[in-house]
Amino acid sequence: MAISEKSMKILWALSGGCCAICRTKLVIPPEVEKDDDSIIGEMAHIHPQSPGGPRASAPFDGNRDHHSNLILLCGNHHKLVDDQENGWPVERMRRVKSEHEAWVTRTLAFDASAAESKEPLFHMIQSGADLWSLIASAWSFLPSYSEENRTDAEIEQLISMLDELKDWMDIASSLESLKEQRDARRRMDEILEECVNSGYFLYSRKIRVQSSTGMNHSPMVWWQAEIRAVPIESFFELVHEHLDKKGHEKGGEATDADGE
Ligand SMILES: [Zn+2]
Repeated sequence: MAISEKSMKILWALSGGCCAICRTKLVIPPEVEKDDDSIIGEMAHIHPQSPGGPRASAPFDGNRDHHSNLILLCGNHHKLVDDQENGWPVERMRRVKSEHEAWVTRTLAFDASAAESKEPLFHMIQSGADLWSLIASAWSFLPSYSEENRTDAEIEQLISMLDELKDWMDIASSLESLKEQRDARRRMDEILEECVNSGYFLYSRKIRVQSSTGMNHSPMVWWQAEIRAVPIESFFELVHEHLDKKGHEKGGEATDADGE
């Protein structure tokens, strides 16, 4: 089996296009117009693709080419983790991957919410369970998305997913049986997957909304779920812009700098 294009996109986006160990940027733009971007990143397997590969002794029966079993590295670190498999066992690889992806997600949460720092941050929705707990606890729903670089079919698919989420919110409080709740969470997993297929990651935040109802009533307060569908490429760009602004904040065994 080969790594699917979808798994590649997700891995590159989640990793912010940087090496998970040294945070070197893995796409180098051309110096002259005639050249293309140079891709220096490599997708390393945590559990190896072949029985004789590094870390083969750790048991695993999942899909080895799924993005969850891949870590994005620069060429140097790919060689290192495969040459020194005892120093880089599966657990360490997983920890480095998840810490790096969490850092990328925090980085984007910072940028996505821009200036108004008093507002709660947007966070990436990572699972159907996350999505369900957001939808089931909100009273109103505010979706947003960008149409840039998307086909009509992709946009229509996204819109129908967002509409469906609104429908789920309307009926969430009436789903009482455990089975109904479980089915809803499963459907949320599928919706997340379909959004990724249309080229979007979903970000969300929950805000407290207050409206003065007038009369002698006390103001009404409720929770609003805001969902932002972020195109996978702009996610990637935001992380890079952030890196350019801030430089490598921490954890960088700074590799050869781009000589500013
Ligand atoms: Zn590296």
